[in-house]
Amino acid sequence: MPFSARTRARYIQQLQSEQYDLLVIGGGITGAGIALDAITRGLKVCLIEKSDFASGTSSRSTKLIHGGLRYLKQREFGIVREVGQERAILYKNAPHIVIPERMLLPIVEGGSLGKYSTSLGLYVYDRLAGVEKDERRNMLSKEETIETEPLLNTEILKGGGMYVEYRSDDARLTIEVLKTAVEKGALCVNYVSFESFTHNAGEKVAGAECMDVLSGDKMFIKAKKIINACGPWVDNLRKKDNSLKKKRLHLTKGIHIVIKKERLPIKQAVYFDVQDGRMIFAIPRGKKVYIGTTDTNYKESTDFPFATKEDVEYTLKAANHMFPSVKLTADDVESTWAGLRPLIHEDGKNPSDLSRKDEIFISDSNLISIAGGKLTGFRKMAERSVNVVCKQLKLEEGREFPKCTTEFIKLSGGHLDKYPADFARDLQEDFKQYYLDDVLDLVLKYGSNTQYILAAAQTNFKNNLLLAEAEYCLENEMTNNTADFIIRRSGRLYFERPELNGCLDNLDAYFNQQLNYTPDTAKKNLHDFEAEYKAVVAFKE
Ligand SMILES: Cc1cc2nc3c(=O)[nH]c(=O)nc-3n(C[C@H](O)[C@H](O)[C@H](O)COP(=O)(O)OP(=O)(O)OC[C@H]3O[C@@H](n4cnc5c(N)ncnc54)[C@H](O)[C@@H]3O)c2cc1C
Repeated sequence: MPFSARTRARYIQQLQSEQYDLLVIGGGITGAGIALDAITRGLKVCLIEKSDFASGTSSRSTKLIHGGLRYLKQREFGIVREVGQERAILYKNAPHIVIPERMLLPIVEGGSLGKYSTSLGLYVYDRLAGVEKDERRNMLSKEETIETEPLLNTEILKGGGMYVEYRSDDARLTIEVLKTAVEKGALCVNYVSFESFTHNAGEKVAGAECMDVLSGDKMFIKAKKIINACGPWVDNLRKKDNSLKKKRLHLTKGIHIVIKKERLPIKQAVYFDVQDGRMIFAIPRGKKVYIGTTDTNYKESTDFPFATKEDVEYTLKAANHMFPSVKLTADDVESTWAGLRPLIHEDGKNPSDLSRKDEIFISDSNLISIAGGKLTGFRKMAERSVNVVCKQLKLEEGREFPKCTTEFIKLSGGHLDKYPADFARDLQEDFKQYYLDDVLDLVLKYGSNTQYILAAAQTNFKNNLLLAEAEYCLENEMTNNTADFIIRRSGRLYFERPELNGCLDNLDAYFNQQLNYTPDTAKKNLHDFEAEYKAVVAFKE
């Protein structure tokens, strides 16, 4: 089944015309992982997402596939072990978007870790997370650390530890998981919002009243089981299910800032102490570096978190303390993003001390809600949730379901037989008219699917790579408008905001024409995009 915005109307019909074994509500990484797991176990699955896929927290994280080093401090050894194993699995299945990144951990006076505790911590971490031998920790003297990263604050520096994290792109990971689920038969549709539950005679949830956000039409979806994978919105659905009891979500906000790499020319990623006892990352990505994150209690609108002036000042201050010669100011910040952690509340705990564990709640009406967790652990979260569904269906209908096999499934785009850089070099041999950098840039987003973009650019788009990329996303990733493309599919709003000016009108015209939008819809799309375009620099107002 194609995953095209052009055929979305047909899928809206299909959502209403059949009964599903499982309806997944929420198209972030958690919902995507559940759809993939469930379809591969033989369930009839559909997934709805009220906005664009990954538009919630799953496009607003630090974009790391963690080995979970920070959980050592909280003594969450189980999480360290699980996410370490998951990282290795993801690297195997999605090598185009899970990239090893050398990470320097400076040891500083007054910092949270001393030389010996860092060495021991990294040692334990290597063992627990099953880190490959050549990626294990390497402790550095003060001189070696300065040589490795001359921009560090030498006045407070005592030494360093080098280890390896894996950089990813959260929204692209989500979309690759969804594409794989769709290839296997799941029906996943964006811009369909859940409104209320319907129930069977036994007062168990049996479906949902929903709305096609693009047309405003109401619809009913029938499903034997429903999983609420709404991330920070999980409690909204639990409220509608009358099952919001003692255990609730605790939302905390984290922001990142993006600056030109020439303003902070670090040689590798750095995970460094902030004076308040927290730690934040500075991570190079192409010609930019992003820095974050914060962790503050959040009680405002779940739909529109953004980085405030205080958030940005805090992050700049932390960066300037660790890299004193660069003297970053708010003028250097090209873009920001803010995300909400859907954590589970624990009385009396600070945001940074709350557990990142996931938890499944099953209500009296049998709504299955999953909350907490990490991007990195999405596959195991999916396995646990789908196990619940299979167990219930087995009891009720006597059906047998296989065990989870997603560990062995390559994600869409993940069919690389070599490192992404080598894959790009080989591909460029066949498409010599394009620069290697441009091909590599595409490979790091679309992996083995890049060949379709290059071929389309050559034959249908007079070598215009950007339009060919947009066409690929429209046809294969249910991309409905410029915002979906620029923000979630390609990350350009965050990482290339100043460079976007010249191409937005073209893209807008392209989507409006291809999807036959009326002038009113085109205007609304433009308005929505402009709101997001401004929100990433809202701290300047
Ligand atoms: C600042 C920050 C940094 C982080 N860094 C990392 C990291 O580096 N590594 C890592 O592993 N994890 C990280 N995390 C955690 C990780 O990002 C989250 O755990 C994960 O993205 C949550 O995904 P989710 O699918 O549960 O939620 P979401 O991505 O928010 O998805 C929920 C979806 O449900 C949809 N929805 C809501 N209501 C409805 C409705 N009524 N109808 C239909 N759909 C609905 C929303 O639109 C949304 O798209 C970070 C989190 C934050 C905030």
